[in-house]
Amino acid sequence: MRCVICRGEIKEKEVLEEVRENNNYLLVKVKAEVCLNCGERYYASGVVDKLIGLKESLRKHRLRLHQIGKVYELLT
Ligand SMILES: [Zn+2]
Repeated sequence: MRCVICRGEIKEKEVLEEVRENNNYLLVKVKAEVCLNCGERYYASGVVDKLIGLKESLRKHRLRLHQIGKVYELLT
């Protein structure tokens, strides 16, 4: 398989995907096929469903989470 955008070479990697719900962010390690040239990600089957499910669980506070940082808004 080649990247549909740039025809670059694709390799399976473990990537950090960001799930956002309002101002809350959840980082999730998932497997994806990543273009080595442009960085486009192609997800293995089930990964997108998993991310959508996690977004819903994040909204309902159903997850056991470990806080690793904070999000700030710059006041001007
Ligand atoms: Zn590409």
